[in-house]
Amino acid sequence: MTCLLCDKPLHDQPTWQHFLGIQKDTSACPICFEKFERIDRIEQDDVLDSVHSLYAYNEVAREYLHQFKFMQDVALAKVFASPLRSVLNDSKKLIVPIPMHPINKIRRTFSQVDALLEAANIPYQSLLGKTTESVMGEKSRSERLAMTELFQVTADIPSNEAVYVLVDDIYTTGTTLRHAARALKQRGIHRVEAVTLFRPIREK
Ligand SMILES: [Zn+2]
Repeated sequence: MTCLLCDKPLHDQPTWQHFLGIQKDTSACPICFEKFERIDRIEQDDVLDSVHSLYAYNEVAREYLHQFKFMQDVALAKVFASPLRSVLNDSKKLIVPIPMHPINKIRRTFSQVDALLEAANIPYQSLLGKTTESVMGEKSRSERLAMTELFQVTADIPSNEAVYVLVDDIYTTGTTLRHAARALKQRGIHRVEAVTLFRPIREK
């Protein structure tokens, strides 16, 4: 087995074996993995009851997401299986991935958020679909964001009482997550949280 990020063998050094014993199903070596900066930033706003971002969107995170999303390297989903499972492993919560736009889905061939959850063996419910923005082509992006719904609920809501946790790869402005949370809350769900793998932080 080799590290998915640097291609070096994973089992060469005793310290790595120890590391792999803790992080059982990680597929990156400690040297690579330590370049990801754990931040565990947790916030809330008027729509999202909690947003938990696990890692800083630093240079290595940028490279990782580029390789994962645009080079379609689906194996990279395994790198974060363990940390994602540790924050999403709660049977009382329903995990809802942020869907990708159907056009992107064709281009990219797989949904990276679904792939992250599947690699971590986290059960999820695909309740959301993206709405089409084409009817509002004359408007600016900000005008469209202000007046349209980006998501619709495309499946039956299993329970209004459960806590729903949206999952996305990166939190940037929060617009995506807020729209998704609003769509769920409009269907009577009381509490919507979110977990994202990355979030940009101010450079030091
Ligand atoms: Zn490595």
